[in-house]
Amino acid sequence: MSHSGSEDLKIESRLAQIGSQEEPVTGAISFPVYQATAFRHPKLGQSTGFDYARTKSPTRKVLEDAIAELESGDAGFACSSGMAALQTIFALFSQGDHLIVSLDLYGGTYRLLEKIMSRFGVTATYVDTNDLDALESNVLPNTKGILIETPTNPLMMITDLALVCGWARKKGLISIVDNTLLTPFFQRPIELGADIVIHSATKYLGGHNDVLAGLIVTKGKELSEQMAFLHNSIGAVLGPQDSWLLMRGMKTLALRMERHQHNATVIASYLQEHPLVEAVYYPALPSHPGHEVQNKQSSGNTGIFSFKMKDARYIEPILRHIRLIAFAESLGGVESLMTYPAVQTHADIPLEIRNKVGVDAKLLRYSVGIEHADDLIADLSRAIELARQEIEQADAQS
Ligand SMILES: *Cc1c(COP(=O)(O)O)cnc(C)c1O
Repeated sequence: MSHSGSEDLKIESRLAQIGSQEEPVTGAISFPVYQATAFRHPKLGQSTGFDYARTKSPTRKVLEDAIAELESGDAGFACSSGMAALQTIFALFSQGDHLIVSLDLYGGTYRLLEKIMSRFGVTATYVDTNDLDALESNVLPNTKGILIETPTNPLMMITDLALVCGWARKKGLISIVDNTLLTPFFQRPIELGADIVIHSATKYLGGHNDVLAGLIVTKGKELSEQMAFLHNSIGAVLGPQDSWLLMRGMKTLALRMERHQHNATVIASYLQEHPLVEAVYYPALPSHPGHEVQNKQSSGNTGIFSFKMKDARYIEPILRHIRLIAFAESLGGVESLMTYPAVQTHADIPLEIRNKVGVDAKLLRYSVGIEHADDLIADLSRAIELARQEIEQADAQS
């Protein structure tokens, strides 16, 4: 951001002020939507800094500068979706290159790698990125990069970013971290040694289930120049209206993340004690295996957790009986959403891999919104109780 002394401001202040001090002509507090795709040149050999909107566009640039600064990187790039951002990043690699990728990961990323990138000769091996021995033994002579999700979605596995990014640097690998679930408000991977951060900004950054967007942040001059070239050449860029909407959402990120974390902690603790729940996967709980690493590298926890019912037969009636919580894909918005990963978000991952990781038929993922926790617990406990009654009746009849 261009206003003076922004480095000294706390992140809450920087978020609230995104774009608010950038419009010199009118002083507009909300940065305008510049719809123009072409920009007049003052004379031959001169430019206002804007030539054609795919390369650079004023509203998008304010957003890109803001995310670069929030993530402690050098350059930001706004894309038309999280997948477009990942595709742009993967274009750094060439035929014959190999990537190491988190074992439990977003289904769409797996699909992009296996169904598309593989056809261009870029291959991937899926590894528990918190197991250094496993990482070491999966490095091939042609391995060029590592893609980490932490926490993973849906099982909330935690990777020690300082450790693994440090290891990647020694091996000469580009380290890429998908920071969608924590956002720079809670975790800044570049400060821990990552080269690239990617966001599905559709989730927490946008925060309202109403804008599809992806963001990339790079560290280092060479990587930033390469990414600028790819971003412009591929052209999967974010439009001005959506850039504005995303900035509008980001202004309240701090408030929302704190409330998401609070609600998720209360509800995960409630479910952990529930007699029909087999397991709860949430790093904020002291029983979670990644709890300590999470506390070390992040200042807070996401609003998403997963839980396993004791019997897969509960799943269908629970999803039918929840009312306040919507049965819907996606995550990170103010409204609570619940999804069934095995059938919805992770259906493209082969069954054997899903079972190996633990994304099975008993697992539900809950993106906890900012409603009141009491109302959310009441909705869920009612749905579980109705499911229990239905199953009991079915058992009595058979
Ligand atoms: C949703 C998501 C993506 C893909 O982003 P889109 O905006 O849906 O294209 C990538 N990574 C993670 C962790 C996600 O949750």
